[in-house]
Amino acid sequence: MKCRVCRGPAVIDLPRHNANFCPEHFLAFTRRQVVRAIEDFEMIAPGDRVLVAVSGGKDSLALWDLLLEHGYAADGLHLGLGIGDYSDQSTRCARAFADDRGATLLEIDLRADRGFDVPTAAAATGRPPCSACGLSKRHLFDEAARDGGYDVVATGHNLDDEAAVLFGNTLTWNTEYLGRQVPALPARHGFARKVKPLVRLTERETAAWCVLRRIDYQVEECPLAAGNRHLGYKEVLNTLEARSPGTKAAFYLGFLDRAVARFRSDIASDSDGGLQTCNRCGSATTNETCAFCSVVERARAHQPVPVSAPRRRR
Ligand code: SF4
Ligand code: ZN
Ligand code: ZN
Repeated sequence: MKCRVCRGPAVIDLPRHNANFCPEHFLAFTRRQVVRAIEDFEMIAPGDRVLVAVSGGKDSLALWDLLLEHGYAADGLHLGLGIGDYSDQSTRCARAFADDRGATLLEIDLRADRGFDVPTAAAATGRPPCSACGLSKRHLFDEAARDGGYDVVATGHNLDDEAAVLFGNTLTWNTEYLGRQVPALPARHGFARKVKPLVRLTERETAAWCVLRRIDYQVEECPLAAGNRHLGYKEVLNTLEARSPGTKAAFYLGFLDRAVARFRSDIASDSDGGLQTCNRCGSATTNETCAFCSVVERARAHQPVPVSAPRRRR
């Protein structure tokens, strides 16, 4: 196996690009994909302060590394979700990376700082864990960006993630979600812009980036992920990709290129009409109390829920 660029020994094959790369040229390829995503979707402007959502997994650490490498003013924010050993190890990986790079890592520990954790929030509300978790992440990242004066929140969603979400939204013809599924959402309601600079990279590629850059990342799968329907969509798409390399990229990037604009008119109005201020936290909401504060209130009143041991990623 030889590198497409220099004919030296290759360490990774990328069937969808019909290419093999040596370490140096794989890293160069990865950087180009990220720069292209940032430029195509005008994700980050010169001088923007970026807050990176850092879980401690391969995607978020690769993203932070790439943004720092490109000279962006990128701080990290890590949430301690309270999911047992899985969360403890994720926190260690996030801290180790920040220490190694001399980068600023902000941290919020849900249990210590907010009086609840994800397993307890899920049990207290009857929501699936990923729903309670996602709600908490969105709220706390928005809040931290607003309070810290950040212009942009960057998340490590990759091509596999976005293709799986698109697949789910298409299966149900959720046209409003389809209209919103763009990798750069403008700032609104006082909250920062939201961007996904890794959408041109697969999770295999972000893992390879971390291995080649010697970044120690959380390799365990979240023990609460079982039952997340996007895992099933990823399996289906991986089967299609194995048979026909490039399917995932054609599906998602083709959607961005040729289809997403057709769903814009299905997006509910972004105007401030009907919005009020949450009586607990002050953020914009359609009810008296925002969804996050309602969940927190119920979770705090609930007995803490223990978590079983993590499973290794397949
Ligand atoms: Fe949160 Fe679900 Fe991800 Fe676990 S798998 S970290 S519960 S969103
Ligand atoms: Zn090479
Ligand atoms: Zn609130």
